Amino acid sequence: TLQAAIQGAGTSVAVVVPSRSADAAALTVTYDGLVAEVLSFQKKLAAIGVTQGSPVSIATVNSYEFIVSFFAASWQRGIAAPLNPAYKQEEFEFYIEDVKSAVVLVPKGAYETGSPAVKAAAKFNAAIAECYWDAAKKEVALDVKELGQLRGKGGQPLLKPEPEDIALVLHTSGTTSRPKVVPLTHRNLTRTMGNIRDTYQLTAADRTMLVMPLFHVHGLLCGLLAPLAAGGSMVVPTKFSATEFWQDFVKYKANWYTAVPTIHQILLKNPAPNPLPAIRFIRSCSSPLSPTVFHALEKTYNAPVLEAYAMTEAAHQMTSNPLPPAKRKPGTVGLGKGVEVVIKNDTGKTVEQGTEGEICIKGENVTSGYLNNPTANAGAFTKDGYFRTGDQGKKDEDGYVIITGRIKELINKGGEKISPIELDNVLTRHPAVSEAVSFAIPDEMYGQEIGVAVVLKSGSGRLGQDELKSWVGEKLAKFKVPKKIYFTDVMPKTATGKIQRRIVAEMMQKQET
Ligand code: ATP
Ligand code: MG
Repeated sequence: TLQAAIQGAGTSVAVVVPSRSADAAALTVTYDGLVAEVLSFQKKLAAIGVTQGSPVSIATVNSYEFIVSFFAASWQRGIAAPLNPAYKQEEFEFYIEDVKSAVVLVPKGAYETGSPAVKAAAKFNAAIAECYWDAAKKEVALDVKELGQLRGKGGQPLLKPEPEDIALVLHTSGTTSRPKVVPLTHRNLTRTMGNIRDTYQLTAADRTMLVMPLFHVHGLLCGLLAPLAAGGSMVVPTKFSATEFWQDFVKYKANWYTAVPTIHQILLKNPAPNPLPAIRFIRSCSSPLSPTVFHALEKTYNAPVLEAYAMTEAAHQMTSNPLPPAKRKPGTVGLGKGVEVVIKNDTGKTVEQGTEGEICIKGENVTSGYLNNPTANAGAFTKDGYFRTGDQGKKDEDGYVIITGRIKELINKGGEKISPIELDNVLTRHPAVSEAVSFAIPDEMYGQEIGVAVVLKSGSGRLGQDELKSWVGEKLAKFKVPKKIYFTDVMPKTATGKIQRRIVAEMMQKQET
């Protein structure tokens, strides 16, 4: 369970929260301190009525109180349901209704100002409590504002979680359809914690800069839980800041970080720290990392870059490139560790190395199915029990997985399937191109044709459609040359920096008319 899996002990440091004001010191918490704080917060939750199966929504930024309330909810056999604190009221309503929150934890002052989370919680009669670090009392406060549905249910006994309890519910990113609710048990989570720890050989000596949001599996599993499973520690700023990242990294002696490609690219646009700190490795995950960015990162930071592949349903990690001296291969997401990864064809048969198909996985980390979603569950698993990722890919001669696209996003040009990722990568190799996102556009002749949204590098001057088309034509088969190139100043992205091809496609075609 998440109680048993925390491996550090005693006075070794678990969490460092940098201070942003000159007069306050960083908050440094030991393993003993963390465990005591979680237990004390668990008592507060039990006192207001949180018990087995109670969904506890956490709508706070990355912080010590997030970490404490997350563990406390799961130790009490409740279900942690983190939410992006930046959501608008309508979004909060969607998620709070979907997970049936018993209580919604919000930051200090949110109740008085009637924040969007508070309004949404009130609409569904969830209890509302402010949760924050009380510096005077040196504890994480639970300041209950409304009891809602918990009225009369207070004074629950303290519980101890079981491995099959659901500890966490999260929504998928909604890239391909309406976000789906994924329940993850203690067993699912602890398995991933072990898998990530083993992949990167994390130990008590390792400290990560945790800049991915804790309301998605990337930040939660790889940034928070895996280090704790190794007895290591983390530096937790409230959010990613390009100017503060390396300052904190150096000041608090971090030695690795994990992030989405967007964050790596932002860092590369800013000066590297001088002198460079020793960086054991940099992990990239959640979206395709272009080989160009891979090489730029390795060169700039003098560290191995390890691209991994993950999804909410797998409690994050499925595969990763290995640490040196094993080979890491840009353009691949590496090998499964503690997760069985196979490629299957349309008929459900496992195919040979080199042949494309759907990436399917099996392992203790994988969810047993979506909540309240029989339609999605019906197609989620193969007959022989593999989870279908919906991603298209193949294995190379060494068994490294190459993702070629999402099955739903493949461009089907008159029966010829084109991987949008392959095209994106070719276009971003052009010296004037900063970002490229390819997608299908309706076409009378072929059913679908290729459209590409392109952001040019600043100062790269004017560039015509034709120039980019011939660039692609030099490198790829003629049928892969885009029909239309849309130039745009910014590429729309989600909170975690994910590209939503569907939305980019809609926006580009709308702009045009
Ligand atoms: P939805 O399932 O609602 O459509 P989503 O699949 O984007 O949304 P997540 O669980 O956040 O929701 O993302 C998992 C997906 O992200 C994977 O299935 C894969 O398509 C993509 N992904 C993750 N890591 C990588 C990577 N290294 N390279 C390419 N794609 C990746
Ligand atoms: Mg998905």
